[in-house]
Amino acid sequence: MKKRNLIEMYNLPREVKFCKLCTVSNQRPRITFDSNGICSACTFSEIKKNRINWQTREIELEQLCEKFRKDNGEYDVIVPCSGGKDGSYVAHQLKYRYGMNPLTVTWAPLKASEIGRRNLDSFIKSGFNHILGTPDPIVTRKLTQLSLKHLGDPFQPFIYGQANFPLQVAVNFGISLIMYGENGEVEYGGDMKNAMKPTRDISDHDLHYFSGLPPEFWTNHGVEMNELFPFRSPAFERIVRNNTEIHFMSYYKFWDPQENYYYCHENTGFSANPERTEGTYSKYASLDDEIDGFHYYLGFIKFGIGRATSDSAHEIRDMKITREEGIALVKKFDGEKPVKYLAEFLEYCEISESELEEIVDSWRSDHIWEKSDGEWCLRKPIWHENV
Ligand SMILES: [Zn+2]
Repeated sequence: MKKRNLIEMYNLPREVKFCKLCTVSNQRPRITFDSNGICSACTFSEIKKNRINWQTREIELEQLCEKFRKDNGEYDVIVPCSGGKDGSYVAHQLKYRYGMNPLTVTWAPLKASEIGRRNLDSFIKSGFNHILGTPDPIVTRKLTQLSLKHLGDPFQPFIYGQANFPLQVAVNFGISLIMYGENGEVEYGGDMKNAMKPTRDISDHDLHYFSGLPPEFWTNHGVEMNELFPFRSPAFERIVRNNTEIHFMSYYKFWDPQENYYYCHENTGFSANPERTEGTYSKYASLDDEIDGFHYYLGFIKFGIGRATSDSAHEIRDMKITREEGIALVKKFDGEKPVKYLAEFLEYCEISESELEEIVDSWRSDHIWEKSDGEWCLRKPIWHENV
């Protein structure tokens, strides 16, 4: 299988460097480091803790709700929510604290996990109107297989729907406000241009969410345009005519994933996994899909950044753990290969384990990986720092 040029594809620096404050490296696409070696997410976190006036932001949120609130029973805000801790927190707050009438929407997981489904059911039972968007499973499966082979990420069809389905519902129901939870670009490091704004530019959509490959791309690989309809964004003119605005709750509220977990445990019947999620140490982050472990694992292969890196970096910034603890967690869990759903995943993708390994290896870049005694090793893992 052809080796990929990751440096070119994702515009990565050739030399791996780690942030001085957290565990993330400069290989995360779009992250930037300042001259002191501090990543953009840590810089933002300092601003968040020290320089943002959260009382003013609270007033801004009340004004936003005031502007969009409809008191006639119609929906006034869309909250994309899988039943996980973040979307559930947003929906619950908007409804019960700010008197909004949300329509919550879920884009179906590729392969729903039991705990994910249970959490979604409990969330709906805590008092929400809800729409589930389920695309044709045959097309979804085809797209998953193609994305794994061509993008090194089986999760891409889910990402299309997750980004575009709320827009489709917004336009079709005439709801102008969409409220997301966190702005991942800002909270985890990425494009900081919207860091101090509550909204997301709709025109940035394809660029950030689809690695420059919108759903239409797959017509080159034998998928019909008609089959792609549920994965696509509504026409740009329709989004504009609907006066659609996409906001992030993390702009208005101090965003703390762990606090969201406690909130949802209390208010929406959210349960954590009895066992930790593969590839990290946490028990409550993205539990909905049996396939997403492979999404994170391939992220680790491509960038040397796995789920434990992202989780620990956020928790270091939130002052829940120290950097040293974070490094130990990364060392222990980051590269863990998902095995729990491996058989199901191989069957779903119609490939053998050795074919999967071949695909995985084609995404290992020489500037991140080397072979030592026949085993793949990170050239520069964070725990080798200063050695
Ligand atoms: Zn950092």
